[in-house]
Formats: sequence, structure tokens, C-alpha cells
Amino acid sequence: MSTRQARRGLDTSKAHSARMYDYFLGGKDHFEIDKKAALVAAEAHPGLYVTARENRAFMHRATRVLAQEHGIRQWLDIGTGIPTEPNLHQVAQSVAADARVVYADNDPLVLMYAERLMRSTTQGRTAYVEADVRDPDALMSAVQDSEVLDFDRPIALSLNALMHFITDPHDPYAIIRRLLDPLPVGSALAMNHCTPDFDPVTWNKVAEVYTRSGSPVQFRSHSDVSRFFDGLDLIDPGIVCCHRWRPAEPADGTEPTDAQISLLAGVGIKR
Ligand code: SAH
Repeated sequence: MSTRQARRGLDTSKAHSARMYDYFLGGKDHFEIDKKAALVAAEAHPGLYVTARENRAFMHRATRVLAQEHGIRQWLDIGTGIPTEPNLHQVAQSVAADARVVYADNDPLVLMYAERLMRSTTQGRTAYVEADVRDPDALMSAVQDSEVLDFDRPIALSLNALMHFITDPHDPYAIIRRLLDPLPVGSALAMNHCTPDFDPVTWNKVAEVYTRSGSPVQFRSHSDVSRFFDGLDLIDPGIVCCHRWRPAEPADGTEPTDAQISLLAGVGIKR
């Protein structure tokens, strides 16, 4: 690790989930150690590349549905990852130019690229905060300090491929409640989460690879993922594998299977 990287808290001595994920998406913002860990994970499940793409596609559709059908104009995206076009604000601002988005991630590498997340429309606004979701109060106060979101108007929490990195000892359900508490009625939770339900053998192997490479994960069942939405009104079609959540086009025969994707997705509204 160089002195500059060390100063930024950038640890390149072990693989990191954001950079492994960048590799799966075909990006350039990862190190050799991340690629190696990603290739080991892909040995356990060669479909991980498709999973990563379907994950992004769900984020695009959920963002559009919230903007078009639920009037959402503000988003808090936690576990943003290394920027990948289109980023959430580009999707949101293509529907409503005045959309505002705050991004948060705890990986210093994401911060290095955060300027890419700042290319907002002039009518809208974006900001980036470095914060850890395991300390939701500190995260929310950093978001409030950025003065981009109006907490008197609905805000959508967007948590994609994040909460399976929060293992039970960190009480992930309490974290979601703390994040939703300060948000007004009409706010939303849009999230997806890895599950072993459809192919336990493969996905338990993937979980092991991630945990061994330094990013402990806990993949959860449909009923455990549903608990994140307790007290919210789930919009159609409920919690399903993410490529089945309001698919953009009718199945053309090349549709991936649930076992391949294994990301449960849902959108709930606070009433
Ligand atoms: N949401 C993006 C990226 C998912 S990869 C997408 O769906 O395309 C998971 C991201 O969560 C990584 O960028 C990782 O750095 C971040 N992350 C993991 N644990 C975190 C934590 N405790 N707090 C904040 N971000 C975290």
C-alpha cells in the first residue's frame, strides 16, 4: 500500500466488496487482489456477472417507478459502490430534473471517484458522504449536514446489495428502523438482498468466499428479507427475485433463473 493510499484509509492488502463488484460489472476501478477474489467467487458461481447486471437494472426500474408513480424526488442511496453509468441520480433526473440524491458508502475508494456522482443537473443536487450504515445515527447526521435533502418531504432509501454485508450481530433490522424513523410519510425503502433460498449449495459457497476474502456476508431467506419491510406497504409485485420485479420487457426466452440471480428485491412505502 502506498503512503497516499494509507493516508486515505485505502487498504489494498485485502479484497473489498465494492471493488470485486466493479470487476463483475466490467469496470476498471479495482486492484489485482479484488480481481483474484472475484474470480474465486465466480468459480463458485459463474452467474455472478449476470447477477451484478440484474442488480443494477433493478435499481434503474425501482428508481423510475418511485419517481413516476410515487412522486419521489429525493433519494438516499447507501452502499453506493464505485460509480457505474447510469448512476441513480442520472436515472432519477431523467424523469425529474430537480431530483436530489445523497450517496453514502464506507469504502474510501468510492470517495475517490465521488466527483462522478456529483455531475447533477442544475435543477437537482447530489452529495456524497463517507459513512458506515452500522452507525445509522452518525450516517443520518452526516446526510443532514450535507443539506441536500429536505426531511419534510418524502425520501426513498435505496439499499442495493448492501444489507447482506450486515450480519446479525450488527442488528440489521434495528438499522433499517433507525434510517426510516426520521423520514416522513410517503417515503420509501427500495432494496435487494442475496438469498440462499433458490440454490443453497452454490450461494453458501459464494458467502464463504466473500467471508474468507475479508467481507463477511449473511445471505437471508425470503421471510428474513421480508422483515426489513415490516410496517411498510409493499408495492406490486412484493418481494421477488430482482429480475422479476417489474421487468422492463416480456420474457424472451433468455431470462435468467431465480437460482442464478438470487437477489430478493422489494419496494415499500411508509404510510
Ligand atoms: N449499491 C450498489 C453497490 C453494491 S456493492 C449497487 O447495487 O450497484 C456493496 C457496497 O456496499 C460497496 O460499495 C461497499 O463498500 C458498501 N458497503 C459495505 N458495507 C458497508 C457499510 N457497513 N456501510 C456503508 N457501505 C457499505
